Amino acid sequence: MNRSAEASGPVVGVLALQGAFSTHLERLAALGVDARLVKQPEHLDGVDALILPGGESTTMSMLLDTSGLRDPLSDLLGDGMPVFGTCAGMILCASNVLDGRPDQHGFDLIDITVRRNGYGRQLDSFETDLDIVGLDTPFHAVFIRAPRVERVGVAVEVLAEHDGIPVLVRDGTCTVAAFHPELTHDTRLHELFVAQLTGN
Ligand code: GLN
Repeated sequence: MNRSAEASGPVVGVLALQGAFSTHLERLAALGVDARLVKQPEHLDGVDALILPGGESTTMSMLLDTSGLRDPLSDLLGDGMPVFGTCAGMILCASNVLDGRPDQHGFDLIDITVRRNGYGRQLDSFETDLDIVGLDTPFHAVFIRAPRVERVGVAVEVLAEHDGIPVLVRDGTCTVAAFHPELTHDTRLHELFVAQLTGN
């Protein structure tokens, strides 16, 4: 992305109710992307795309209600605003969630079934190098109490797998990762997300 494209480039909002939002902001800043934190409905003004970060999906679900963000976000995302959901953000985008709390609700944006904390206790956290469609070299991925993808719909593209299980998937403008791409200094997945917005 050149500097003039940066100046007039897309604005990426990072949902900042809870969790690992500030590191997403750092990665976007490193790419020269105009990024801002979204904590209340007014912060959505002028936002072209959204990142839903990792953290705790049950808490985020509750805070979506108390902040008043659930309805405006549902409308924008339902209308096709590009979104990148990571870890808890993947859970918030999934059509089906297993082992969720009965009172947690997401945005139903991508036809996948995920199991919360599905990697089990001894593997609550692990790191691994992933081959990812669209990247020339492996991406170091950090999994923290990650959701496990148990089913992907026919329209869903699998961009990366770990041990035969999809961990990065996309359907149109919705991309979701079971891991935390913001926790390393590798900005390539953020770059791919932003490139989708600018057509670069
Ligand atoms: N286990 C968390 C949840 O259910 C997700 C973990 C994460 O985002 N690192 O939301």
